[in-house]
Amino acid sequence: MSTASASAAGVAWNLADLYSGATDPAIDRDLAAIDSGCTAFSATYRGLFEAPAELQAETLLEALKEIERLSELMGKLGSYCGLTTAADTTSDEFRRLEDRVRTALVEQENKLTFFELGWLGLPEETAAALIETPLLANYRHYLKASRRYKTHILGEAEELVLNQKNLTARSAWTDLFDEFVASLRYDFTWNGETKSLSQSHILAISYDSDRAKRKAAQECLYTELSKHELVLTNVFNAVAQDHAINDGIRRYDSPMASRHLANEVDAGVVARMQEVTEGNLGIAHDYYRLKAKLLGLPKLATYDQYAPVATNMPSCSYENGRETVLKAFERFDPGMRNIAAEFFEKDWIDAEVRPGKRGGAFSASTVPSVHPYILLNWTDKLRDVSTLAHELGHGIHQYLSRKQTYYNFHHPLTIAETASVFAEFLTFDYVMAETSDPQIRLGLLCSKIEDAFATVYRQNVLTRFEQAAHAARRKEKLSSEELCHHWWQANQTLYADAVEMLPAYKWGWSYIPHFIHTPFYCYAYVFGELLVLALYQMYREEGASFVPRYLKLLESGSSATPDALLKTVGADIHDPAFWQKAFDVLKTMTRRAEELAGSVG
Ligand SMILES: [Zn+2]
Repeated sequence: MSTASASAAGVAWNLADLYSGATDPAIDRDLAAIDSGCTAFSATYRGLFEAPAELQAETLLEALKEIERLSELMGKLGSYCGLTTAADTTSDEFRRLEDRVRTALVEQENKLTFFELGWLGLPEETAAALIETPLLANYRHYLKASRRYKTHILGEAEELVLNQKNLTARSAWTDLFDEFVASLRYDFTWNGETKSLSQSHILAISYDSDRAKRKAAQECLYTELSKHELVLTNVFNAVAQDHAINDGIRRYDSPMASRHLANEVDAGVVARMQEVTEGNLGIAHDYYRLKAKLLGLPKLATYDQYAPVATNMPSCSYENGRETVLKAFERFDPGMRNIAAEFFEKDWIDAEVRPGKRGGAFSASTVPSVHPYILLNWTDKLRDVSTLAHELGHGIHQYLSRKQTYYNFHHPLTIAETASVFAEFLTFDYVMAETSDPQIRLGLLCSKIEDAFATVYRQNVLTRFEQAAHAARRKEKLSSEELCHHWWQANQTLYADAVEMLPAYKWGWSYIPHFIHTPFYCYAYVFGELLVLALYQMYREEGASFVPRYLKLLESGSSATPDALLKTVGADIHDPAFWQKAFDVLKTMTRRAEELAGSVG
């Protein structure tokens, strides 16, 4: 549909390692195997926790292995459905399949609910003894971590009802949001010509060199979104209220508490990180002023933030992007390069822009017995290379974590971004080293700083918005204007007098999927970015000796708490000085940009 993505035309993933299609007989076979497996599991182990004194570690191990096997099969089906609908959100065939599989899996999961509840119900001493049994060493973190929900889990009957009702509550709102936002078209008029653009296309204009065009695109985006305030405001309210209801019945004392628990990070660490971030807003203001000067403006506006500093930036074909990322990884570790190469060679990447395809980019871990898949929307921009590096970083992390069994395989949000952002830095340094034109070097450095700001400062703003909006929603239903107000306030803290906000920018909250999919997800981006800035600094200082420790961290999956995993590479997240270290890197980058700007003139 777009000539901009011509170089990635035809680059689509091959999902055959999961299933060959919506009518693959293996789907029904696996559904049947899950059905009989879950029924048998329930029959065999239902009494397991009834006599705690007689519970043997061997029996618990057997049960854990079997439930992991069943969870993996379910994960495989769930992954396939998620990927097919992302590749084509308009396909009725895949939507019907997803619906059928989801309903079936909920029914099967219900048969297994007793297991976790039984484990949680065990007396403290019995559980503690089992957790320390060497035979169960592989499950130590899982067993320990799952008991952290002990005070938040209800009885079996209540859990069954909640799980079932979720289909028409939370899931239904999420589906509505996804399908609705993906269906929106933005009629963008430029030079007397009107084009109907997708969201990723209209957002891409933020990087255009023409100021008037950027402004028009931002107006167009937010004006279109504002027309749908009825749907978008209701979805946000429903999700926030659902969150509040869950918090109430599960006894979480604050809106962020369940996310912190899921992330296995304590509230104090996150609050300190937010404070250190806000204590360093001066770095952002310095940069915004430099950028205004570089663009020849008295003051920056929201639609100027991503404007190119260098207008002669080369475009980048998919082919070139691939070579760049592979070479950058090679310099760090040849093994890492080889894993990345597999993604290209074996068609694990869907890169072309297609109508109906989900926007943005992600890497889906799927299950340990298969491998990750990556979705991109390649538009031949140089920044697509960073996105590719980012998603491949995730992909490599997920690939290496396949050494773990299913329960130790998924990364908590706080460390989920570690490898992705690290891979972006590797690629950035490689590209900088290969570039001699000072104008282009300045352009690259500025966009790197802007990316870091988008992750650190902007995601902190997103988190502050959610904190304010959820707190307000607990009192009453929010109007569109109130949501716009909270968004405006949160942004005002960041932009202060350094950036002017376009009035329509107040609708910026309305299309952000994280708010709907996973409330309070966004601070994990801040966490991940700052963490990586500090880790990357360690790599620069230590060189090759850092590499094996880093790869070991990636292989560890979620086999221990993030805190413990990070200690193995020497990072102490409780120490404000650790977070400050990351801002010192950002400060150095900003100073370097000021110097380069001075030399370019
Ligand atoms: Zn990511």
